[in-house]
Amino acid sequence: MQVRMAEHYGMCFGVRDAVDLALGLAREGPLTILGDLVHNPDVVARMDAAGAVRAGRGEDVRTTAVLLTAHGTADRVKLELREQGLQVHDATCPLVTRAHLALRKLVAEGRHPVVIGQAKHVEVRGLVGDLDEYTIILDESDLEQLDSRLAREPHARLGVVAQTTQPLERVMELTAALRARFPDADVRLIDTVCQPTKDRQRAMRLLADGSDAVVVVGGPQSNNSRKLAEVARGLGRPAHLVADASELRQEWFDDCEVVGLTAGTSTPDPVIQDVRRWLERLPVRRVGSTSKVCATP
Ligand code: SF4
Repeated sequence: MQVRMAEHYGMCFGVRDAVDLALGLAREGPLTILGDLVHNPDVVARMDAAGAVRAGRGEDVRTTAVLLTAHGTADRVKLELREQGLQVHDATCPLVTRAHLALRKLVAEGRHPVVIGQAKHVEVRGLVGDLDEYTIILDESDLEQLDSRLAREPHARLGVVAQTTQPLERVMELTAALRARFPDADVRLIDTVCQPTKDRQRAMRLLADGSDAVVVVGGPQSNNSRKLAEVARGLGRPAHLVADASELRQEWFDDCEVVGLTAGTSTPDPVIQDVRRWLERLPVRRVGSTSKVCATP
C-alpha cells in the first residue's frame, strides 16, 4: 500500500514540553498528575511507567508535588492546591494560556463570555472555571441558550473564544450563526484556535485530496484527532481513527491504493511509525468493489 504522510502531523510543542516536564519531575520524586497529562493512551502509560500517579481531584493528591496538565486549569483550582500546601507545577500549554487571557480580556470589556467547544472537555472546564456566568456552544442548536438573555438585552455585548483544538471553519460558522441570530448584539471573536491545530487541519485537507482513505493516529479522547477524522469524512474520504497499529483492520483498505496518514497533537512518533509500517506492508487487495475508493466502514 502506498502511504502518503500529511505535511503537518503528530505531537505539538505544547504536548512535547508537558511530557518532558512530567518525566523530569517524576525522576526527581513522587508526583501526582491532575488528570491525564494529554489525551493519548501511550503517553499516559509512559507516565504510569515513570511512577507518576494520577488524581481526578485535588483532594485525592497524596504527594507533595502536583502537575497541572497541558489542557490548563482554572485559577481557582491552582489556588486550592496551593492552600493544601502542595508544590504546584504547571504544564499548561502557552496557547491554552493565551485562550484564558483572551477570555479574561473579553470579560473585562463587559462582554458575556461564549466558549465554542465541548462542555465536558477539561480545557473548556478550565477556561470557564473562574467565571460566574458563561455560555458553551458546539453547534447551532446551542445558541438558543442565549435567547432569553438577548431578548432582555438585544444590544448585549458577547465575547467569543474557542477551545484551542476546534476547527477554525466551525468557529467562524458558529460565530456567523451567532451574529445572524442576534443581529443587534455586539459580538467580538478572538481566534484562540492554536496554530498546530490549524496546520494539521489544513494539511488534512490536502492529504484527503488524492488519498483513497485516511488514517488518523490518536487517542479516542483526543479532540483534535477526532476533528481531523471529521475533516476527512467531510471531504468524502473514509477516515479511521486508531490509537495504535493494533486497532487497524485489513478490510478497511479493500480496493484502496493510496492511504493518507496523519496524527493528532498528542500522538508520539513511534506510535505513528508503527502504523505507517503496518500500512506499507499491507498488499493492495481487490475485492471487486465497483468504486475505486474503498468502502467507508
Ligand atoms: S494542541 Fe495546541 S493548545 Fe494543545 S498543547 Fe498542542 S499547541 Fe498547545
